[in-house]
Amino acid sequence: MKAWVIGNWKQNPAASQDVDTLLESLLTAIDDGAKASTELSNSHCNLMVAPSCIHLAAVSTRLKGTPILCAAQNISAHSASTGAYTGDCSAQQVADTGAMWTLLGHSERRQYHQESNECLLQKMTHALAQELGVVLCIGETQTQYDANQTLEVIDGQLSVIKDLLVQQPDIAASLSDRLIIAYEPVWAIGTGKVPTVTEVSKTHQHIKQTVAGFADSLNEMTVLYGGSVNADNADSFAADSMINGALVGGASLKAESFLAIANAF
Ligand code: 13P
Repeated sequence: MKAWVIGNWKQNPAASQDVDTLLESLLTAIDDGAKASTELSNSHCNLMVAPSCIHLAAVSTRLKGTPILCAAQNISAHSASTGAYTGDCSAQQVADTGAMWTLLGHSERRQYHQESNECLLQKMTHALAQELGVVLCIGETQTQYDANQTLEVIDGQLSVIKDLLVQQPDIAASLSDRLIIAYEPVWAIGTGKVPTVTEVSKTHQHIKQTVAGFADSLNEMTVLYGGSVNADNADSFAADSMINGALVGGASLKAESFLAIANAF
């Protein structure tokens, strides 16, 4: 299974000039790597970045024809592709930029925008209808982790996939190519704290088994780890066969650290 390393830029950078600098550094490093036949040639893993919606179209346009894919961080829960939904961007508008994927259900969206499974079911439905792949983010809070509720919380969050398949059984066969799950313990995001590789591995195994139970065709689900992944700890996550890549926040804002993580996978 080819690994995925995805940079979630969140609400960064502030200036579009810094977006350009970051993109050019990434592309130059990949290009130089390809010429020198080093591992930076990106043949070993899929690379993707998710800029903020304000930069999505420009980033998507710049990345066309390059080895880096582009994703949105969110889409509207409304089914209409256009209309009176101030502040929203529809799946169709995202797809029109050339972006091929969207993150959904990031814990910061769940926390600050009260995104529920019901809302995420709608967003998944609209994304897939526009042929956008979905990176579904799941994970427990510190309190839930301390109370040993991780698997229970994850099961609740994964049930949106089951609900989607109940509504649209026909998409089961194609879903494995268009769905990635990112396990991001909320307490590990931006804190420098990480679970042990054994903990992540066990949780990923549980996620894979649970999703395979929803449909036979989902028996090889790509499951990424996210939460304080950096150039120093990426190797240890990459060494575990249950961990199929990383969703990277802070360390994706520097080309050097993002590509060092990509190299590890
Ligand atoms: P950090 O890598 O900054 O911890 O963020 C992880 C994350 O939330 C990626 O979606």
